[in-house]
Amino acid sequence: MNNKKHLALISVHGDPAVEIGKEEAGGQNVYVRKVGEALAEQGWIVDMFTRASDAQQPKIVEHRSNCRTIRLTAGPEDFVPRQEIFSYREDFVREFLEFQRDREIDYDLCHTNYWISGWVGLQFKEKLSIPMLHTYHSLGAVKYKSIQAIPMIAATRLAVEKDCLEQADCIVATSPQEREHMESLVSTKGTIDVIPCGTDIKHFRAIGRQEARTRLGIAPDAKMVFYIGRFDRRKGIETLVRAVGQSRSRNDERLQLIIGGGSRPGRSDGIERDRIEGIVKELDLEEITTFPGRISDEDLPYYYAAADACVVPSHYEPFGLVAIEAMASGTPAIASDVGGLQFTVVHEETGILAPPKDVEAFSAGIDRILSDPQWQKQLGQNARKRVEEKFSWNGVATQLSDLYLKTLADSKDAVSKATA
Ligand code: UDP
Repeated sequence: MNNKKHLALISVHGDPAVEIGKEEAGGQNVYVRKVGEALAEQGWIVDMFTRASDAQQPKIVEHRSNCRTIRLTAGPEDFVPRQEIFSYREDFVREFLEFQRDREIDYDLCHTNYWISGWVGLQFKEKLSIPMLHTYHSLGAVKYKSIQAIPMIAATRLAVEKDCLEQADCIVATSPQEREHMESLVSTKGTIDVIPCGTDIKHFRAIGRQEARTRLGIAPDAKMVFYIGRFDRRKGIETLVRAVGQSRSRNDERLQLIIGGGSRPGRSDGIERDRIEGIVKELDLEEITTFPGRISDEDLPYYYAAADACVVPSHYEPFGLVAIEAMASGTPAIASDVGGLQFTVVHEETGILAPPKDVEAFSAGIDRILSDPQWQKQLGQNARKRVEEKFSWNGVATQLSDLYLKTLADSKDAVSKATA
């Protein structure tokens, strides 16, 4: 790209420079970081802005040339639960404007992530007259349908999400299902483009199952069912544990369940992990269940490759990176028939889709895959092929780059028409 353009990727609560799998870090952190790096590779100058959540962390982290994370001070430099971060939104905007002024950078456009950043982006759009693109990562209108205790912040979040859809230059939906939710539940006004999330298809690769198991110390003949992700009720880990409880009676003692992901004692994820461990105990599954904690980026491809099936039992999933990571590793996914998972997992071709919270259906899916190694292998090969064709980060970044350039050209046209 001639004349490099400056992109501000805004992720107020999802720090792209933290270790993934720790604290509240999940798919959004991965998305922002990977998209930022791939766009820098394609010629953009990318600054990723987040809120400083630990005074010990550096304020600027350089990831590669033309791609860095900038931590702004907005509220205490400590962990603040997501629903409280919105109170510091104005500090974030002020700090961003100061940073831009002090460094004499004129950002050409901003791409915001999650509704809190969306509010911030609407301010930049107004104050700096730059185009704004937005990715929701999760939609309040969908989320609140699946939980009982609606938080205090709900009305504010729904209003901000509606403003984003109606006022942003373009919304980036990560699946056709998410787009449909926006149109039916948020607003019929707005411009939406579908560009999926991606994964690193060199990192997540088809490592031989035995090689992976030797490295992890897993028995060569184990029947391994794997979960990885945050400990959050929405992730439906309870459904998986109960499904394995049912499957155990139909399988032999080789069945093994590995539940990976970090958690902090006493915090929401620590409490959910304790609850899950309680269910494991209640069902007498302790001997066949392991909780390895956070799994590093380096080890994760081996876990996926060692597994016979990766289960994604979420109640709701806007995209679901774990499913495509497993698929890229040649492992079929057994996933809830919801949201982005309906787009990434093709039923009986790359894995199995089951109704969310349906213990019987998940258990039947696990049994089908574990009892037919030939079919499981075929599903894994199809899965890898689907990810190569549709979900590589480079492909995603190219689509985003084209969309940014088109949005910039459209907004210049609009300005010149208005001034003509
Ligand atoms: N992850 C990881 N190690 C862990 C737990 C999670 O690397 O111990 C990563 C996982 O590989 C995936 C991301 O965190 O890239 C979770 O993204 P997903 O979209 O599946 O769920 P979200 O966290 O956004 O709800």
